Amino acid sequence: MHNIGIVGAGTAGLHLALYLQQHGIDATIITDREPDEYRSSRLLNTVAHHNCTLEREEQLGVNHWQDKEYHYHYHDHWLNIPEPLHFPGTFAKPSRAVDYRIYLPTLMNDFMDRGGVIEYQKIAEDDIQPLIDRFDLLVVAVGKGPLGAMFEHNAQESPFEQPQRRLCVGLYSGVSHPEPKNVTLSLSPGVGELLTIPTLTFDGMQTALLFENVPGGDLENTVTTRYDDDPAAFRQTILDALEQYHPGVYERVDTAKFDLCQALDVLQGGVVPTVRKTSVAFDNGKFALALGDVHVTVDPVNGQGANIASYSAFKLGEEIVRAPVLDQRFIEQVDMARNDRCLAAARWTNLMMQPPSEEFQMLLGAMSQNSALCDEFTENFNWPERQWDNLCSPARIRSWIARYQEAAS
Ligand SMILES: Cc1cc2nc3c(=O)[nH]c(=O)nc-3n(C[C@H](O)[C@H](O)[C@H](O)COP(=O)(O)OP(=O)(O)OC[C@H]3O[C@@H](n4cnc5c(N)ncnc54)[C@H](O)[C@@H]3O)c2cc1C
Repeated sequence: MHNIGIVGAGTAGLHLALYLQQHGIDATIITDREPDEYRSSRLLNTVAHHNCTLEREEQLGVNHWQDKEYHYHYHDHWLNIPEPLHFPGTFAKPSRAVDYRIYLPTLMNDFMDRGGVIEYQKIAEDDIQPLIDRFDLLVVAVGKGPLGAMFEHNAQESPFEQPQRRLCVGLYSGVSHPEPKNVTLSLSPGVGELLTIPTLTFDGMQTALLFENVPGGDLENTVTTRYDDDPAAFRQTILDALEQYHPGVYERVDTAKFDLCQALDVLQGGVVPTVRKTSVAFDNGKFALALGDVHVTVDPVNGQGANIASYSAFKLGEEIVRAPVLDQRFIEQVDMARNDRCLAAARWTNLMMQPPSEEFQMLLGAMSQNSALCDEFTENFNWPERQWDNLCSPARIRSWIARYQEAAS
């Protein structure tokens, strides 16, 4: 039986460990943070799991947040252009966002309660060879940290060297949600996007506001104004940004109640979209394999990173269960199993970071007129490879629109 070492207890590492545990394969997690440490950490991210991921959680027996109150059902689009457009796109099944400072330690405890072993150590490059010697396969799932650089950069799939958006994300009180709940996608050309996500937090159901600001655009100040320096100035900066550039969301704000839920509930920075090669081979014939953000890091605008990390964990788990030997052929099979979705998510996300082509603008116009088309676009947040099938060239976008126009006539 294989003996698998997993460095990192994010969604990638945990979903893989729980999958292997369920299939009777030895898996040890080595990570740098204990479950109790998450309660006092700064906000890590604001992750929405689409239904495809909720189904995997169900399979793993870790779908703890099933109350309907936690679910959202559609995307509400606001295009803030001279003649504004506002239209919804509905999911076939609901999605859900839980603060990862609640989610990750819960799954760590699930794994340990079922007999899984977690060791606590910050792994450095020098620690890798002993871990390779110890396990049949070493899975590296340390997120965006420096250790991931041990895997070769895939230049062809990584067109950018800088973040394409400057991010300011926080958990806020005082923002109302319609029922049924939605994620609001508000777009202001040249300035950026705002995602408004109903989220289960330490303070109950609250709202994540994720500003995706175009570098050098008018809302850079949401990234440079620090809550810790002057909470009132930060709060006013966010309110001004909403009022001026995302008015559909501003309408939902009760200014008397609006604030960060807690002082650590804010994160500012950026993500360099990066794809890395799958594996590193060692002299003894064993491999280290990249999983999750180590393999594919995407900007959060499409909410894909954790969803593809979970998908990849399952695909890797299936291949580990199937493979008699964890050799080069096994690595090829992992690549074949996961790459279509992972690369599609990266390419689609990178496309969304660029000024929209004429065809993409036509698509937005068509979605505002045709709810079935908009529903397919929305549902495809579960299936990035299907989204990319439709978006990968101007001709494909035109053909997609035409299919819906023909059906409507
Ligand atoms: C603001 C924001 C919003 C986002 N929104 C979404 C969304 O809506 N939907 C979505 O799917 N994705 C979203 N993402 C992306 C998502 O957060 C990541 O893709 C996902 O968390 C990656 O999971 P991972 O397991 O690969 O890495 P991580 O979650 O980063 O986990 C890494 C693990 O490794 C541990 N670790 C790190 N370094 C070491 C080391 N040297 N030694 C030992 N352990 C180590 C860490 O403690 C952690 O346990 C968002 C990201 C951001 C920043």
